[in-house]
Amino acid sequence: MNSLKNLKYLKNNKVYVEEDIIDNKYTKEILHNLKSFKIIKIKHYKDVFNRKNQSHKFQKENLNIIIAKSNEKKIYKGAEICNDFGYNDFYYIVNLMNCTYDCEYCFLKGMYPSSNIVIFVDYDEIMKEVKKKLKKNSYLSLSYEGDLLALEKIHGLNKKWMKFARENPHIQFESRTKSNNFNLIEDEEPAENFILSWTLSPNIIIDKYEKYTPSLEKRIININKALIKGWKVRIFIEPVLRVENGVNIYKDMFYYLKEKIDLSKIDKINLDFFRINKDYFKRLKNIYSDSILFAYPFEINNGILEYKENYKKEIYKEYKKIIID
Ligand code: SF4
Repeated sequence: MNSLKNLKYLKNNKVYVEEDIIDNKYTKEILHNLKSFKIIKIKHYKDVFNRKNQSHKFQKENLNIIIAKSNEKKIYKGAEICNDFGYNDFYYIVNLMNCTYDCEYCFLKGMYPSSNIVIFVDYDEIMKEVKKKLKKNSYLSLSYEGDLLALEKIHGLNKKWMKFARENPHIQFESRTKSNNFNLIEDEEPAENFILSWTLSPNIIIDKYEKYTPSLEKRIININKALIKGWKVRIFIEPVLRVENGVNIYKDMFYYLKEKIDLSKIDKINLDFFRINKDYFKRLKNIYSDSILFAYPFEINNGILEYKENYKKEIYKEYKKIIID
């Protein structure tokens, strides 16, 4: 599936641009890649992005892009709900908000009032801030609130960050994706401190709940290409969803991964279950009122909804047996 499908075939897409940054060199670069889009100048991205009564479902089918500059705060400390991989200094930046894919469980639909994509083009300022604030052994997630590689064709941000990573070897960078766009960065030399991560799900989940994303096979092909080129690659099996026959569905995928990928070459592999802040959950449930995904019983721990232990234990047992041991 083409990651830009919901942008590419529509005639009426718009690109909103903050008037202050219309002459920014990165704005021009993006506009060059969005030639068929109608350009609309705006004062501030929030004037469009924060409008009331927007429909996530409609916008996911009719994506518009907003080019803006970020708030004063450019670096964020990772929330406790995130895996920090043992790094005390786990940070993320927001290069963009939202993405071209449409995962039913995506927490961003609970967090943001809009599904339109915002790209912040003050990259130079963001990088300056990273350079100034992040100490040795900090971990910086680049695609925390969107899928950076899925939109590489439009903004070329992975390449920009790879260059920056080479100049700042004391920081560990991670770009996480579901895309099959490795070809867009394959001419880059691997950087020891730049991790390419793929999020994987069984095809049955992809088809049902991860609209517009590439199949499992395509993601695996990308992983193997990145490994051959010498990149540090991580795999994230998440969010593991509760679905009918889930244990067997995930078990089959674990065997499949073992067969198709040399897991000894993977820098880290991680499995995590669907969990979400209770307010975001409420909003997601409103959008997908008939979704079975949100009908299963959850436990609430410190404002976070999680599956009950039994289901998690069963899947984790298979994961440990097939992948870890
Ligand atoms: S790929 Fe990630 S950011 Fe994009 S819709 Fe899916 S969960 Fe959300």
